[in-house]
Amino acid sequence: MQKHNFNAGPSILPREVIEKTAQAILDYNGSGLSLMEISHRAKDFQPVVDEARALFKELLQIPDGYSVLFLGGGASLEFCMVPYNFLEHKAAYLNTGTWAKKAIKEAKGFGEVVEVASSADANYTFIPKDYTVPADADYFHITTNNTIFGTELKADPDVNVPLVGDMSSDIFSRPVDVSKYICIYGGAQKNLAPSGVTFVIVKEDALGKVSRTIPTMLNYKTHVDAGSMFNTPPVVPIYAALQTLRWIKAQGGIPEMQRRAEERASLLYGEIDRNKLFQGTAVEEDRSRMNICFVMAPEYKELEAEFLAFATERGMVGIKGHRSVGGFRASCYNALPLSSVQALVDCMQEFERKH
Ligand SMILES: *Cc1c(COP(=O)(O)O)cnc(C)c1O
Repeated sequence: MQKHNFNAGPSILPREVIEKTAQAILDYNGSGLSLMEISHRAKDFQPVVDEARALFKELLQIPDGYSVLFLGGGASLEFCMVPYNFLEHKAAYLNTGTWAKKAIKEAKGFGEVVEVASSADANYTFIPKDYTVPADADYFHITTNNTIFGTELKADPDVNVPLVGDMSSDIFSRPVDVSKYICIYGGAQKNLAPSGVTFVIVKEDALGKVSRTIPTMLNYKTHVDAGSMFNTPPVVPIYAALQTLRWIKAQGGIPEMQRRAEERASLLYGEIDRNKLFQGTAVEEDRSRMNICFVMAPEYKELEAEFLAFATERGMVGIKGHRSVGGFRASCYNALPLSSVQALVDCMQEFERKH
């Protein structure tokens, strides 16, 4: 049976990315050696890092003066590296969910943290819009897509301080005005590569402004100066990321990824809104195009387990909702074909006819 991969992360990758990476693991560029067995400094591997960094810049139209880094530690380590490198006195954070809250917790160890707004009281079903960012904040941190709660900031906010963005789960799904940011980061395992690599886009002249001593490995400048090769990078995930970046470019770049994301989301939200058995959890204007959360309508609550089994039997994978929201979550990342969303919609319609 064909599987439809709605996993939230690690998650679906284009099939050709997996095949090319598998091939390189068996025999890298006809060398008779595996990608896993060669030096990261080998003349064969440096071009992989160089091309991946260049494609990041090209696809996201990153202005001059920014460095693209591939690091370890996941987005979770960036929760600490961001304030370590940028928080001198005060930082502002928007609390839009579990990941934002974790970022806030880490920042509190480094200086004053102002939580400008929060939707915690509404179980993060919306993105707060009425807030003021203190003009003397060193930066304003946002989570552009809230993977667990299914809300998304679809544009880069206009504020009077530089932005920092956790884009773990919506990178390459919409254009980004990188010039508004001093740092953009994310774990690769939602939209880009297998787990094990973290992408960081950092504005070079925003570094070196805090007075504290930063441990070498946690200092972005270390990695900027070393061209993202200070120590052994996660070679296999970077290779896979490069294949994904090439795939994105060949498909038509970010405009095409955005068009597909909107097409998938409008198909699935359309069905959630039409089908009497289901309802969405996030307020309409803030609905994520990447993580689509829905529950049974109250009068059909008892059908939840039955629908999950029904959909699983028909090849749907990973649609059980996160425990903090319940119900269902269909993660629709860049590599997910529209036909998988159509298969889920067909399933919902068939289930409705049954009840
Ligand atoms: C998954 C996720 C994280 C955590 O990423 P790790 O790489 O596991 O540390 C952080 N932020 C967001 C928005 C996520 O979706």
